[in-house]
Parts: sequence; C-alpha cells; structure tokens
Amino acid sequence: MADTAAFDVLILGGGSGGYAAAFRASELGLSVALIEKDKVGGTCLHYGCIPTKALLHAAEVADQSRESEQFGVKTSFEGIDMPGVNSYKDGIVARLYKGLQGLVKANKVTFVEGEGTLVAPNAVEVAGTRYEGRNVVLATGSRNRTLPGLEIDGTHVLSSYEALTLDRVPSSVVVLGGGVIGVEFASVWRSFGAEVTIVEALPRLVPAEDEAASKVVERTFRKRGIGFKTGVRFAGVEKRDDGVTVSLENGETIDAEVLLVAVGRGPVTENLGYEENGVTLDRGFVVTDERLRTSVPNVYAVGDIVPGLQLAHRGFAHGIFVAEHIAGLNPVPVDDLGIPKVTYCDPEVASVGLTEAQAKERLGDDKVEALEYNLAGNGKSQILKTQGFAKVVREKDGPVIGIHLVGARVGELIAEAQLIYNWEAMPHEVAQLIHPHPTQSEALGEAHLALAGKPLHVHG
Ligand SMILES: Cc1cc2nc3c(=O)[nH]c(=O)nc-3n(C[C@H](O)[C@H](O)[C@H](O)COP(=O)(O)OP(=O)(O)OC[C@H]3O[C@@H](n4cnc5c(N)ncnc54)[C@H](O)[C@@H]3O)c2cc1C
Repeated sequence: MADTAAFDVLILGGGSGGYAAAFRASELGLSVALIEKDKVGGTCLHYGCIPTKALLHAAEVADQSRESEQFGVKTSFEGIDMPGVNSYKDGIVARLYKGLQGLVKANKVTFVEGEGTLVAPNAVEVAGTRYEGRNVVLATGSRNRTLPGLEIDGTHVLSSYEALTLDRVPSSVVVLGGGVIGVEFASVWRSFGAEVTIVEALPRLVPAEDEAASKVVERTFRKRGIGFKTGVRFAGVEKRDDGVTVSLENGETIDAEVLLVAVGRGPVTENLGYEENGVTLDRGFVVTDERLRTSVPNVYAVGDIVPGLQLAHRGFAHGIFVAEHIAGLNPVPVDDLGIPKVTYCDPEVASVGLTEAQAKERLGDDKVEALEYNLAGNGKSQILKTQGFAKVVREKDGPVIGIHLVGARVGELIAEAQLIYNWEAMPHEVAQLIHPHPTQSEALGEAHLALAGKPLHVHG
C-alpha cells in the first residue's frame, strides 16, 4: 500500500464543513489534505442551498410576472421553460464550483479525489493509498432520509436530489414533510403552476419555528393555493404508471404525479471505519464535546454529522473553529442557538435564538416579553405588497433572546438580528441605532423601539 507523509490536518469530506476547515487550517500555516469522493462544495453547493435558491428565485420571477398588474405593469406569463430554469441554476452552481476549486488551489490544500475510509485514528485510506494526519477531521455530511418501506425510485417518488434535476414541472405533487426543504419545494412548484399538497405529521408547517411564524406561512400558503394537511401521518404509497396515490393514516388518499419525500436528513457515517476506530456514534451521528472533539484524541467532527442544526453556515463555523482549535488559537465554541436560520419559501421565515414558547419554558412565563411588529406598518413591505412581522423576544428587563421574521425577503434581515442576539443587546441599545428609510430593516428597528418603550409607527 502506498503511503504519504503525515499532514497536520487530514479532512474526510469536502462539503461546507470540510472545506472551511481546510481553508482556515491552511491560512494558519498548517499542511492540509482534503479527501472528497464527489465534488468539493458538497451538498450545499451541488444539491442543496444554491440550486434550491436558484429555483426559488425563478419562482419569484414567475410570480412577479404573473402578478405584475397589481403594480400597474402589464406582462404576459407564458409558462415555465424547465430546461431554461435548469440551465440558469446549473450555470450558477458551475461558476461557484469553479471559484471554489480555485480557492482549493490558492490555499495550497492537497486535494485527494476518491472515497476515503478511516483505517486508524490518524489515517484514511483512499484507493489503496494511506494518508496520515496528526489531526483528523470527519466531515462526511448527510443524505436524504426516507421512511421504512418508502423507496425513492427517482421517477414518481423523489428526494430533493432528484427533484432538483426534474426536466418538467409536475402537474401535481404531494410533499411529505413540512420542514424547511418540504416548504421550499412546495413554494417553487406552486409558483411554477403545480397543484401542491404538503403532509406534515406535526401540528404545523415549519414546526421548528415560532408558532406565530407558522401561522403566517400557513395563511399565505392557503392564499397561494398550496394545500397542506398537518397532524396527520403518511401510511403508504401506491405507484401507477402516471403517478402515485398517497394514503394517510386518517384514511384519506391523495393522487399526484410526484411524491417528494422531505422527512429530514441523516448522517453519512456508516461503513467508514468510524466506530471500528473508537469514534462514538449516537443514532449514526458523531458524538462530540463543545470543542467538536470526538471520543478519539485528535479526531474532530464538523457539519451535519454532528447532532444539531443542519445548515451550511454552521458547517463553515465548525470548520473554522476546528482549524483554529488545532492551531491553538482557543476559539469560542459554536452555539447552535446563535446560528441564524432561514427558510426561503414565499413568504420567507428567518429566526435566531429562542422562540417565545422556548423562552417561557426556560425562564418562566412572567420573565419573558415579546413584541410582534406587523409589516403592515413598514413602508418598504407595503411597496413589496408583503405581509408578515418582526417579532422580538426578550428577557424581562434583560437582553434580546430571540428574533423571528416572516415576509418577503426577510432572510436578508436575519444578519442584523443575529448580531443583536449574539451580542446580547438590550432593546434600548438597538433602539438607539438608526435604520435606513424605507427599508424592511426598519421593522426590526421599530420592534426594538417599541420594546424600549418608545414606539414610533405602532398602532395600539
Ligand atoms: C435541498 C437542500 C437545501 C438546503 N438548503 C440550505 C440552505 O439554504 N442553507 C443552509 O444553510 N443549508 C441548506 N442545506 C443544508 C446544507 O446543504 C448542509 O447543512 C451542508 O451541506 C452540510 O455540510 P457538511 O460539510 O456537513 O456536509 P456535506 O455538504 O454533505 O458534505 C459532505 C461531503 O463529504 C463527502 N463524502 C462523504 N463520504 C465520503 C467518503 N467516504 N470519502 C470522501 N468523501 C466523502 C460527500 O461527497 C460530500 O461532498 C440544504 C440541504 C438540502 C439537501
């Protein structure tokens, strides 16, 4: 078996977590090898964040052209040219991929193409070559889950992976799962003209978000003609030549051309030598401490294989953290609560910190104050004709502990919200800062003004 000299950092998996660790370690003067079996950029760039957001933008363009008359603009909407949409989407991914490959070179990272297996706590083997690292970072990411007995056939039963490369707009879709990925695809397909029904076992759509946000999403989806059934479980699917019949545990059935299974993503940790080399797993996820150390000395884990939020920017933060930790910089651990989350359906949902319910559960009902600023009072939101709110949750007489936004384009506002949360700002401190008029960011300013006891554009 061929052998190579030991690297300071040996990384298995070149997605958001793995390549961020590689770049930061290299910036810090460490020698780095990055092993990737598919394409650097991983799920996010090739099969996740970027292609879905391109589809969502195309969906917004479709809606705007269909609904332009409300702005006094006459257009005629002729339909969706799916090959055209796909080439727009693929073009973006290709450009970013090229840029990322350039960064791998510029950072002098040794890129190893191939499938790696951990063969010792300090070594990974790829096609007969053994690579050693004084430190090893596991970053093998996640894959789509399905339910027992529900097989993804790529034709009528799809995961997000197949859904991203469809060459047509299905006439009707059942989306199994009302979480982030489910509602994003539901939103896209509805804008593209499909009949859509979401089935969610929990009592509400986007169940990880503040209840008030779910209500706005549900109200808006209803207006958009997106059907949904919450609090009901999937029972089975029957395939026909031209589609599927989905049955639910309450006895209902729904016919559709396509079933999208969006029931979450599980870790990629099987048959990779992790457990054999002493790495403790819990339900497939790699168990780490807050410094992302696994049960084996000098072996770390980052990104989706670590239990918690499955987000690309968490992967980046994990990767940077581990590289800095290895370099002895003593970085501050990544706290999932401080990570902003965005769901990019129409309307968008964005949040950071605790929901009102979580805050009350932790601190007690009387220790929490929440204020919901309705976007009806926000000029820019009116111009955009969007509805929703900016909700700020604070500890009574204390700092802001949660911010929740719903409405068109609010994903961009969460960047400010996460500064407020992570800096543990008091509402009166934020109230002092000036927001440009007319922007949607004023809604955040207004909510803090109101919490600081000096509301400006708030109706009693
Ligand atoms: C449809 C969809 C939409 C999403 N949208 C968003 C979004 O808008 N915003 C957001 O923040 N997150 C989003 N995500 C989540 C995001 O993609 C993940 O959180 C992120 O990619 C996790 O990064 P990672 O590095 O942990 O894993 P991954 O990106 O999955 O990377 C792991 C890499 O490891 C490689 N690998 C695995 N095993 C081996 C092996 N044995 N040898 C060599 N290489 C291996 C894989 O090929 C892969 O490239 C989305 C996900 C999906 C599926």
